Amino acid sequence: AKKEGKNRFCYFTEALTSNFDYAVNVEKELRSALEEQRFVLFYQAIVSAEDGDVVSYEALLRIEASSLSPVEFIPIAESSGLIVPIGFLIVEEVCRKLNKWRENGVLLKPIAINISAKQLYDNSLVLFIKTCLKRYDLPAYLLEIEVTESVLIENSGYAIQRLEALRAEGISISLDDFGTGYSSLSYLTYMPVDKVKIDKGLKDKFLFLENSAVMKNLISICHDLNLKVVTEGVETEAEYQRLKSFGSDLIQGYYFDKPGPIGDGGKMDP
Ligand code: C2E
Ligand code: CA
Ligand code: CA
Ligand code: CA
Repeated sequence: AKKEGKNRFCYFTEALTSNFDYAVNVEKELRSALEEQRFVLFYQAIVSAEDGDVVSYEALLRIEASSLSPVEFIPIAESSGLIVPIGFLIVEEVCRKLNKWRENGVLLKPIAINISAKQLYDNSLVLFIKTCLKRYDLPAYLLEIEVTESVLIENSGYAIQRLEALRAEGISISLDDFGTGYSSLSYLTYMPVDKVKIDKGLKDKFLFLENSAVMKNLISICHDLNLKVVTEGVETEAEYQRLKSFGSDLIQGYYFDKPGPIGDGGKMDP
């Protein structure tokens, strides 16, 4: 029995060690990507359900010459605090991109960036966003922000104040990943948000089953609260048509557009 216990302990520490090594390696990769300027943004269109026209874009972070996906590196960027400097880069890059597009005569559409709780602990990001918009002479509506409920759970008071401040500037806020995690409807009543992004998982679960009324009613509850609805991860015409009939205002997913780079000289429309 003692031997077995010892073995189990070995497994346990091995697992811990490899998880730890993994995190250390990802953090190293993040630091070298920062130093070598290998962070790039991909953009994915968000379209109007009505006519499929591109309404805005979501900026999604990638690391050049790396096999790591955001699902792997974002959590470690958050726990290591590196998400803070990376976040500044993202704001700067989006403003630079919008400015470049404008110089090239492209009709500008808002770009949404993802912000995590850590990035709202102090006020520096809010200040940086305001400064950046001013420096590039961009109207605030061209920048949108996506946050998850964890922002509220992790630092409710300050986060809400900061989101309110951004919103007062004219920046639209979306509640991301609705239907994952805690996802209480009550968040919708006290988060300063303009849009709700219904997560792919929730859409997959409810769109075509006999309880699809849940999906339909959720969309109408959002509308009652004066919130626009974006449905994420839409991959088929059938999903699109059904969501359109349920009143989802906006659609995002591979069916319309996959995340990719958009050239500075190119049109914003894919
Ligand atoms: P998210 O904010 O929910 O972003 C949507 C994710 O769904 C993206 O994954 C996108 O590529 C993927 N997606 C879009 N359409 C479809 C579809 O039709 N089917 C499927 N299966 N997937 C689709 P991605 O780019 O790998 O990003 C994953 C997550 O990493 C994001 O989820 C977000 O939470 C985080 N993330 C990405 N970029 C950033 C960033 O710049 N800052 C922060 N804080 N988080 C980021
Ligand atoms: Ca998002
Ligand atoms: Ca999402
Ligand atoms: Ca997600």
